[in-house]
Amino acid sequence: MKAAILSVGTELLFGQTVNTNSVYLSQELNQLGIDVLGHYTVGDNAGRLEAAIEAAFKECDLILATGGLGPTQDDLTKETVCRVMGDELVLNEEALARLERRFSRSGWKMTENNRKQAWFPSRATVLMNDLGTAPGFRTSENGRTIVCMPGPPREMRPMFEQQVKPWLSGHSDQKLFYRTIRTFGIGESSLETELLDLIDQQTDPTLATYAKEGECSLRIASKRMTIEEAKQAVDQMTEQVTARIGEYIYSYDDEELAQVVAQKLIDRKLTLAAAESCTGGLFSKVLTDFPGMSAVFDRGLVTYSNRAKIEELGVSTETLERFGAVSRETALAMARGLAEKTACDLAISVTGIAGPTGDTKDKPLGLVYIALVMGEREDCIQSRRRNVSRAWNRQYAVLQMFDRINRMLDGRIGN
Ligand code: AMP
Ligand code: MG
Repeated sequence: MKAAILSVGTELLFGQTVNTNSVYLSQELNQLGIDVLGHYTVGDNAGRLEAAIEAAFKECDLILATGGLGPTQDDLTKETVCRVMGDELVLNEEALARLERRFSRSGWKMTENNRKQAWFPSRATVLMNDLGTAPGFRTSENGRTIVCMPGPPREMRPMFEQQVKPWLSGHSDQKLFYRTIRTFGIGESSLETELLDLIDQQTDPTLATYAKEGECSLRIASKRMTIEEAKQAVDQMTEQVTARIGEYIYSYDDEELAQVVAQKLIDRKLTLAAAESCTGGLFSKVLTDFPGMSAVFDRGLVTYSNRAKIEELGVSTETLERFGAVSRETALAMARGLAEKTACDLAISVTGIAGPTGDTKDKPLGLVYIALVMGEREDCIQSRRRNVSRAWNRQYAVLQMFDRINRMLDGRIGN
């Protein structure tokens, strides 16, 4: 099945309403393995609505439409669908009865134009709406299907979920299986270069890269007659991808890096402490966004000043004077001091220049040192990003901290 999404409503063209329906429906169809070839948005205008339906049916056999099912004059979807499908509107008794019940229960007066909402194309299957006054409908003609749903997302989504999705699943001849692999430490262009021949040859499974903030995802998807066949194809491609870029992969299941680390700590019953300078507590915040962290997270110290680094972590004045607060030596002294003080299984420290000022010739903005101690094992990295955004430098430093812990837990560093 090839689909188009049609959004009806002048408010969308004015930019008054953000078109969230098309995003939602695209995601849903995508998961069902139905290709979405286009998004159409039209105002409340019968001529242009008709033209958009005709245009969409030129390349698609399914249209999911939202909006324009209201009781007022400008709600024209049903009349227009009848014209395109060669049908006529008839009164649906059940829809009318429900509408009347709805009005009598609420005590609101039912006006004549509300009755309009109980009329549907004669061959349509009506989709009842318990959350609003506008029912939807589905109608097919010559292998072309249009599904019309109300505009308000809180009515449209349950209708789609309960009454449209099951029908689509039954009518989709192929099953989709996909996997989102997440990587850290490799840019999108390098990732694509590593996988170029696989991406070039692809027909099924398909392989696509997506850049996200500070990291890249890979999506491997396959459409086959059965879900087992699709999964097998995705598994095979996953193996090939892992052989090439496995060192950067941290999740095969679309999880956040912090989530992966948190889960490993919990599973292995390891304790962690953090000493943060330039991130000001952001690492601790992100880690404690996950419930259940009290079992593994001992403490997070914000040791911003030299005095705090000396008093809380036992960093020596000499180290600070000789190498500076942003240095490999200070980062390591912070992590070692923290490990000793807390007796945690892992102690991590971060010190850097978040910006926008405070840089010098040999200590540029975005320069960060992250040190990690796990028993006898130690690791310290220097990272330089030419990014002048203070917020982003801090966020990226936190991602790197999680990446270092993840690698340490996997035994890939600090040996
Ligand atoms: P309608 O079914 O055309 O009467 O739409 C009623 C209301 O639903 C509009 O006033 C919008 O607030 C909302 N709405 C309509 N279309 C969309 C859309 N594509 N995305 C999000 N909200 C929408
Ligand atoms: Mg409307």
